Parts: sequence; structure tokens; C-alpha cells
Amino acid sequence: MKGNIRVFCRFRPLGKREQENGDIPVLHKADAFSVDLQRPAPHNDSRRFEFDAVFSSDSSQEEVFGDCQDLVQSAVDGYNVTIFAYGQTGAGKTHTMYGTSENPGLAPRAIESLFRVIRREEGQGRKSFSVKAYMIELYKQDIIDLLVEARPKDQKSLQDAGRGIMFVEGVSERPITSPEQLKAVLAEGERRRHTAATAMNSSSSRSHLLLSIIVEAAVKDTEQVIYGKITLCDLAGSERPKKSEVSGEALKEAIEINKSLTALGDVIEALSKGSKTIPYRNHKLTMLMQDSLGGSAKTLMFVNCSPASSNSEESMMSLKWATRAKQV
Ligand code: ADP
Ligand code: MG
Repeated sequence: MKGNIRVFCRFRPLGKREQENGDIPVLHKADAFSVDLQRPAPHNDSRRFEFDAVFSSDSSQEEVFGDCQDLVQSAVDGYNVTIFAYGQTGAGKTHTMYGTSENPGLAPRAIESLFRVIRREEGQGRKSFSVKAYMIELYKQDIIDLLVEARPKDQKSLQDAGRGIMFVEGVSERPITSPEQLKAVLAEGERRRHTAATAMNSSSSRSHLLLSIIVEAAVKDTEQVIYGKITLCDLAGSERPKKSEVSGEALKEAIEINKSLTALGDVIEALSKGSKTIPYRNHKLTMLMQDSLGGSAKTLMFVNCSPASSNSEESMMSLKWATRAKQV
């Protein structure tokens, strides 16, 4: 079980604004697996955190993807794979998961790689593949389908398919035949996430985004069908509520995000400890991720951090949260 959950830490460079504000970097990569957090006054202390890999401010998107590439092959082989990014808003989650057109992140690279693997295996003549994708957003308790024109109140509900597998009823699944098509679907979903957030007077960093790519392989000789799935998840920002958010929608959002991330942490901790019961049912987020966390599923979690001294408390919280997943 333990070997199926890997935790990677990545911290970004200091931003221009942070430099101008007199921030200094407080995160330092000690070796390939360790990062030191040097907290400024009044703490003036240093703490070391260990992970399965540490990527520092000068690590490239290629380098990061290089360490996750094997998961694409696993999905083609019939495993459920989840890659997600945890961290405060501005820490680099979206950069890591999606990146920009000039500097693509994990999702576009995984998509390219997936189709390369599929073409290669199809070329061997034993299997034929079909790929579909869906993309949803979890905003507070609402599940929103990002691949249809959003209408208010048009939320999806979770259904139990038995054996602990939950599915989103009536979610639009798009058949995909090329990497370009899948990237276009991704862009379409991203655009709707932003539009929806603006309409709700919120920010897209206040919702969880899940892109699931389903890979169906038909084995020609045996007529067996093998299902694999890659779920890429850009979580809502983990920061604690600001002082300005003492009431209203912003506070409700913050409370719900906190509940969902706590539930996710509890599930991962239970899995990494090998507990008998895993508390998936505590939140819709963990129910949505249930088939991709635990069992034979392979999970890769990024904890993204800002290196800035002014964010050192948030970084500390994130690193501690991620460390829970590593306890045995
Ligand atoms: P989040 O999704 O966690 O809120 P973003 O991914 O949007 O954070 O990153 C915040 C800003 O920092 C963006 O301008 C992004 O381009 C930049 N950034 C994040 N990670 C890196 C990195 N590894 N290298 C360079 N710039 C980065
Ligand atoms: Mg983001």
C-alpha cells in the first residue's frame, strides 16, 4: 500500500512582487529527498522535511514530469492513477499540473505521453484502445460538469456503483482520439472554471478541479477489456481564512475547503498506515477520488510551497500536512 503513495515537494522561485517586498527565500533543498524550512523571527528555527523527491525553484517542468512518467504506463496497463497538487494559493499548483503554453506542466505532458504509449501498444497489434475524458469542479458541496455549458443549479450528484465506487451521475464523457483533442477539452474546462468562478464572485482557486482520463484497452485474443484511469487534480488553495473573511461567502468557502482537505489528509494518512477502514465518506472530495486512492490505485501527491519568508507559516502547515501521508 505504502509504495502506492508517493509525495513530492516542489517550491517555486521568489516572485517579483515578493522580492520587492523584501521577502527572502526560506526553503532550501538539502538533498534529493529533503527540504529545510528556515523560519524567520520570532521563530528563528530550521526544520527538515523528507519526501520521495524534492524539486527546488530551478527544477524544470521536464524534470518534474520525468519522475511521474511511469504512471502513464500504469494507467495504460489498467491501473487507476491520481496525481494531485496541494498547497496555498500562489504556491505553484496550477503551474505544476497544467503550466502555460510556453512551459507546459504535467497534464499536457502526460497527455502526449499517453498517446505515444497507446500508439506503440496498438502498433504491436494485440490491443486496441479507446480514450474518454470528463472534467468536473467541486465548489463547496456542488459538483459542476465543466464540459457542458454551465447553468445555475445544474449540479451533478454522486451515485454509488457498489463496492465503494462512486460515480458522477450524467457527467459528460468526451471520446478522445488525439492529444490535441484532449488538450482542447482541458482548455475548454479550464475556461468554464474561470467563468463560473467570476460569476459566483469567487476565484477558481477556491474550487477543486478534477480531470479524469479513462483508458479502455480491448485485448484482441481474449476479448478482455482492461480499464485504467488517470485523474489529475488541482486542489483549492489550502491557506487558512484571512482576517477579512470573517463572514459571508468567503468564509463558507474557506470552511468547506478546510473540511475537504482535512478529509483528504485523513484518507491518505489511513491508507499510508494500512488502516482497515478508510474514511472516504467524510467528504464529497474523497468520495470523488475514492476509486483512485487506495486499493491498487497509484497516487502521486505534490505539495507546492512558496519559498517566501512572508509565507513561511503557510509553508510549514503544508509541509506538515504532506508529512502525514508519509507516516507509517
Ligand atoms: P496556484 O495554482 O498554487 O495558486 P500558480 O501555479 O498559479 O499557483 O503559481 C503562482 C505564480 O507563480 C504564477 O505566476 C506561476 O507562473 C508562478 N510559478 C509557479 N510555480 C513556478 C515555478 N516552478 N517556476 C516559475 N514560476 C512559477
Ligand atoms: Mg491555481
